[in-house]
Amino acid sequence: MTRGPEQPDVVIVGGGISGASAACRLAAGGLSVVLLEKQDAYRDLVRGEWLAPWGIREAQRLGVYDCFSAGGGWEIREWMTWDEAVTEDEVEAVDMTRFIPGIGGPLSFPHHSVCELMAEQAVACGARLVMDAARIGVTAGARPVVTYRTPEGAHELRPRLVLGATGRGNTVGRQIGVTMRNSMHHWGGGMMVEGLDAWPADVQAMGTEGDVMFMVFPQGYGRARLYLNFPTANKHRYRGPGGVERFLAAFELDCLPDRGKAVTEAAPAGPLSVWPSVSSVPEGPPVAEGVVLIGDEAGNADTVLGTGLSCAMRDARTVCDILLASGDWSPGVFAPYLEERNFRLERLDFGASIVSRLHVEFGPAAVERRRRVRRLMAENFAAQVTGLLNMVAPEDVPEFGFSEFFAERLFRETA
Ligand SMILES: Cc1cc2nc3c(=O)[nH]c(=O)nc-3n(C[C@H](O)[C@H](O)[C@H](O)COP(=O)(O)OP(=O)(O)OC[C@H]3O[C@@H](n4cnc5c(N)ncnc54)[C@H](O)[C@@H]3O)c2cc1C
Repeated sequence: MTRGPEQPDVVIVGGGISGASAACRLAAGGLSVVLLEKQDAYRDLVRGEWLAPWGIREAQRLGVYDCFSAGGGWEIREWMTWDEAVTEDEVEAVDMTRFIPGIGGPLSFPHHSVCELMAEQAVACGARLVMDAARIGVTAGARPVVTYRTPEGAHELRPRLVLGATGRGNTVGRQIGVTMRNSMHHWGGGMMVEGLDAWPADVQAMGTEGDVMFMVFPQGYGRARLYLNFPTANKHRYRGPGGVERFLAAFELDCLPDRGKAVTEAAPAGPLSVWPSVSSVPEGPPVAEGVVLIGDEAGNADTVLGTGLSCAMRDARTVCDILLASGDWSPGVFAPYLEERNFRLERLDFGASIVSRLHVEFGPAAVERRRRVRRLMAENFAAQVTGLLNMVAPEDVPEFGFSEFFAERLFRETA
């Protein structure tokens, strides 16, 4: 008798934060799960490594929090804004440990180590992990079909449901006809460094000077993830020979203590990646019969906000809760997920556009705008509402922060 294709309950395509955390939750809930990952081993792909307090809460609810702590999660307690629009005596630390009771400050961690631990946890809960899975084909339907290749040959799966979690590559989304409306405000680059011993270990920094907006997220033991955002017109500045050196040299800034010496003298400890910082909003619902998209594959706001990881786990949790609650997995049961996701992405997209305009635009008018907005925020605490979007879940941020009226007031230029 010939055996037909394997028929697991769920096939998850993509073993990043969204896919691997969903695999953990579903396998722990008793479902049969196959997790397909295209890398042959987890490597530094330069992704998000700063997890907001509300994302920590999502990780706890999914049962994957230990992967962050065991994978090198490092609590950041203070946020410094060193910026050309802020004088030295105005610089003040923001305490980030008290935004959500019982959670503490955001976590900074090596992304690929945490994904690897999540994949291991999923396997320990009974999932089957396939690394090095290539040329994945997905056909939607009441019994969807997934085909892929490994060095051993071609394979076919017939699950009840496919979760598309391949990130911005949209491998599954494109195959089920989900298109994205993309927009881009600036470019970004990121790299891991070590030997940053002079940097205060629980202090993150952000700021803008000249034509870069920088971010430094320490990960303990002298390591830190560095990011830069810069204008699209100059997008190739860190490409080609000498790119790494130019990237580090860009942190030689007057606004940073000691002119950024600690950062510029750090040693690269991973690849430098440069990318267009794109926000993608799905033009239709990110579902089809037998297929649901989660994480970046279902749409994402600009990375400048630092909320993609939290969203990835919110998606995983919401969809897993639906799957574990009942045997009815018809497209209609995902309506609450889609509704909450639309609402969330709309808010994050709006917030990211404000943050980009404020911090990732350059030149004298932009510096003056940042000064003016800082004054406004000092006079009227309510004007700081967008800053909450990094820390608490979008639904917990007051509604008025998402109105055109608010944006107009914030950016009204002085005559
Ligand atoms: C440079 C950068 C900085 C960021 N900074 C932050 C931050 O500080 N905080 C934050 O919250 N968010 C940040 N983000 C966003 C965050 O990284 C993403 O939102 C999050 O990683 C999305 O998780 P995901 O699992 O949906 O997708 P991904 O992380 O993209 O994972 C997708 C996985 O699928 C695999 N895959 C891809 N294609 C296939 C295929 N065809 N077949 C099988 N497997 C496949 C990939 O190898 C990967 O493992 C940043 C993003 C970038 C690019």
